[in-house]
Amino acid sequence: MPTIKSVSETLGCEGCPMRERFPDHHFVPPQKPNNPDHDLVRLVIAEAPGERESEVGEPLRGKAGQFFDKLLEDAGIQRDGLTITNCLSCRPPDNIFPTDRRAWSSKSKRRYISKEDGVKAVRHCKEKHVDPLLRSRKWNRVDLVGGHALRIVAQKEGIKEWRGRPLKLPSGHKAIAILHPSYLMTYKKSMRENTLNDLTKSLEESAD
Ligand code: SF4
Repeated sequence: MPTIKSVSETLGCEGCPMRERFPDHHFVPPQKPNNPDHDLVRLVIAEAPGERESEVGEPLRGKAGQFFDKLLEDAGIQRDGLTITNCLSCRPPDNIFPTDRRAWSSKSKRRYISKEDGVKAVRHCKEKHVDPLLRSRKWNRVDLVGGHALRIVAQKEGIKEWRGRPLKLPSGHKAIAILHPSYLMTYKKSMRENTLNDLTKSLEESAD
């Protein structure tokens, strides 16, 4: 298990509105490849850590992570050859993303941030933690897991419209978006096969 740091101990989190409110929340760093034989240069970007991920300090390790692992296995992809990270590297309260209306609306019982600070936190996390990882090497492909990752990293709205379509990121990398495992588990088991195809699709065709 990696050494777990709080966001208040993490370089790059200074000045983030989430750190001001939740300084003790755990920082969940990217999971690096752990397989000496891996030949994949593949980056997976998910949304945010949940309870389990925050506890163990690794992305995609809870129930949705287990579902994702099974997808990888069925697609013939080794998890330990991947680099995996999140758009937000600390757990938001009640697993509600800071830009989600429930996080900032005055009508929401689970409000924990202002709309402006929610946007600022997401931007801060991308600039300090996601962009440097994207720039760190020539990834062969980037998999964006869920609608938040699609919007934040590819600057596109609408996961149902964009999933499975080869994308070119502003960073120049080839990418593809897939439905989030939590969504598949809860609502769309019928889309499992499509998601397996998305994970194994060649990105050599023209990208939007
Ligand atoms: S949102 Fe990102 S930058 Fe802000 S405290 Fe959490 S991990 Fe750090």
